[in-house]
Amino acid sequence: MNNFGYSRASDIADAVRQIAADPAARFIAGGTNLIDLVKENVARPSRLIDITHLPLKAVEETADGGLRIGALVPNSDLAYHPQIEARYPLLASAILAGASAQLRNMASTGGNLLQRTRCLYFYDTTTPCNKREPGSGCSAIDGINRMHAILGTSEHCIATHPSDMSVALAALEARVLVAGTGGPRGIAFADFHRLPGDTPQIDSNLRPDEIITAIELPAKGFARNYTYLKIRDRLSYAFALVSMAVGLEIEAGTIKEARLALGGVAHKPWRNREAEARLRGGPATRERFLSAAEIVLREARGFGHNDFKIELSRRGIVRALDQAARGQPQSQADKRIK
Ligand SMILES: Cc1cc2nc3c(=O)[nH]c(=O)nc-3n(C[C@H](O)[C@H](O)[C@H](O)COP(=O)(O)OP(=O)(O)OC[C@H]3O[C@@H](n4cnc5c(N)ncnc54)[C@H](O)[C@@H]3O)c2cc1C
Ligand code: SF4
Repeated sequence: MNNFGYSRASDIADAVRQIAADPAARFIAGGTNLIDLVKENVARPSRLIDITHLPLKAVEETADGGLRIGALVPNSDLAYHPQIEARYPLLASAILAGASAQLRNMASTGGNLLQRTRCLYFYDTTTPCNKREPGSGCSAIDGINRMHAILGTSEHCIATHPSDMSVALAALEARVLVAGTGGPRGIAFADFHRLPGDTPQIDSNLRPDEIITAIELPAKGFARNYTYLKIRDRLSYAFALVSMAVGLEIEAGTIKEARLALGGVAHKPWRNREAEARLRGGPATRERFLSAAEIVLREARGFGHNDFKIELSRRGIVRALDQAARGQPQSQADKRIK
């Protein structure tokens, strides 16, 4: 572990000033991912800029009927916030499917989006990894790749993004609000995380001098027909093998609007607009669900140990859509675990 400095940001402008002046520094929020990475010598920040005292802990209504969630709202507070439980239960379910109660108490909204991959080679500094050490190679492609991606991969990296919350935010079409030396801006959730391409070391389109200030949810929350289905090796405290966030709007037996995002299959939450279009405009039938799953998985490719994820995703998509259409989200079981 390297030596590093520590400072506190007094306000958002000061946080931006500090990160712009020292690009090797990192913000620290809950520290549940960053501190592990520092201890493992995977991250070597010159300084930790503590942002935990910034006024980014509010959940507020927006003028267009949505909600603005401060970047420092803890995952637990968000999952049990009355407005989130009532209007965006998909988001509450996804958060509660992640980590443990203790971790969710510490983890922040902004930090959850920027947590790094759980690829074992990324954490093992004795092995080549293009994400950790650009140009060194990818140990996972011919290695142990059971947890790895089946969509949107590149010859340089096949890692997945581990966040559950981000999968729900992708389905809900949230916006990420950021501040930087160029002023504030909003990033559509679909454009926030990146595919690995030939720069797998860069996970998101957040610029080096920017801080996440909030997430904005649009008014539409799919509170009646939704599900977050997370399939994992054990029921709690495990990252997703595959997960599905589904939101449906059904009127008189016809699907009017469909959102389907997958986790555990790619370097970012995965959406396929053609599959969603296939679901719209007809009844909620198993045939339509299967057809949407086929579209999502048309380009899927396994790397050996993770081949099973293709069939698992197909079945998971059909089951998640079915649960959502019936208004019986599997997530009720998760919600009992406080
Ligand atoms: C054992 C274990 C199991 C877990 N299981 C799951 C799981 O099943 N599902 C899941 O989704 N997650 C899981 N997690 C991950 C956990 O949810 C994340 O570590 C947490 O959400 C990160 O939030 P944090 O505030 O602690 O981030 P930090 O560790 O403080 O920061 C993470 C990164 O975000 C940056 N950052 C933080 N806030 C901001 C900001 N406002 N603006 C710009 N940059 C920022 C930091 O610089 C750092 O690079 C697990 C973690 C552990 C340790
Ligand atoms: S999959 Fe990505 S993170 Fe994992 S070893 Fe390959 S380059 Fe590194």
